[in-house]
Amino acid sequence: MNILVTGGAGYIGSHTVLELVKRGHRVVVLDNLSKGHRAAVRGIELVQGETGDTALLKELFEKHKVEAVVHFAASSLVGESVRQPAGYYHNNVVKGLALLDTMAESGVGRLVFSSTAAVYGEPLEVPIPEKHPTVPTNPYGATKLALEGAMRWYGGAYGLRFASLRYFNAAGADPSGAIGEDHDPETHLIPLVLKSALGLIPHLEIYGTDYPTSDGTCVRDYIHVSDLATAHALALDALAAGSPSTVYNLGNGNGYSVLEVIKTAEEVVGRPIKVKYGPRRPGDPAALVAGSGKIMDELGWQPRFADLKMIIETAWRWHSGHPAGFGK
Ligand code: UDP
Repeated sequence: MNILVTGGAGYIGSHTVLELVKRGHRVVVLDNLSKGHRAAVRGIELVQGETGDTALLKELFEKHKVEAVVHFAASSLVGESVRQPAGYYHNNVVKGLALLDTMAESGVGRLVFSSTAAVYGEPLEVPIPEKHPTVPTNPYGATKLALEGAMRWYGGAYGLRFASLRYFNAAGADPSGAIGEDHDPETHLIPLVLKSALGLIPHLEIYGTDYPTSDGTCVRDYIHVSDLATAHALALDALAAGSPSTVYNLGNGNGYSVLEVIKTAEEVVGRPIKVKYGPRRPGDPAALVAGSGKIMDELGWQPRFADLKMIIETAWRWHSGHPAGFGK
């Protein structure tokens, strides 16, 4: 299949590109490199540009005879989205709509969309099923949900079929150690734990110890980035085979607390990790765990890295081998 991947130089995007190429697809990446890394995409055409540039999109669709789009390009930090909602609506919704418009005009009818557990808001039940009410508690989740809504209506009117993948906590790195997670600033737990182990930051701050969980720290469902990548490939195959539009959760179905993550990381790195106890981070729900039975049943997806230790081992290979990430 000829596939355009927006945001393909980012963390989840670059791992998905790797998987798609392994499976024999022809991939072109569109990325504005505001967060992504050229070095994360090797041997693949990378076009530096905006998802909102409709003339560029049309040109790429024609030139590469694009049959499907995987859309990652977006802003994705919860806290930042609360402080700067305008940027999030512009980047995630306005540019996303430009992509949908151009797909409709150019007759590109298949889309796999990078969505998030943040569309659910505070969970009413855990594990969270896809039919859970969607009441986002921050602009990041709201903008992802807004594009999901547009995709639904565009689908009916213009023949677009999509799979929206609602990720829980993406973690880990390609087992080769060649690519991995490199955000600036880094805000995610596992990379910060490992940066602390490497002495790149003085300590890890634990955000809150008074949550209603077994040890008082937040519980999350960590899913390996390569397992996410496989899910995108399976979703594309299903769309190519004529499957209707749908939404899938993607997690391991196991929750781990912040303290459990730190303990497992200490086992992996073989030394204690310096931590400090701090207040809660605003907007963090106590526990988020995915019910991913739907994608397992319908697409046969299974996580290869279901175990937290395996996930952290791959992340450690990347971070210890590339303490400066992809470099500047
Ligand atoms: N967390 C933490 N210290 C940090 C970063 C994260 O205690 O420096 C906690 C955070 O409160 C949450 C969990 O780790 O409960 C995962 O946070 P992350 O930012 O990785 O992902 P999120 O769940 O926000 O998508």
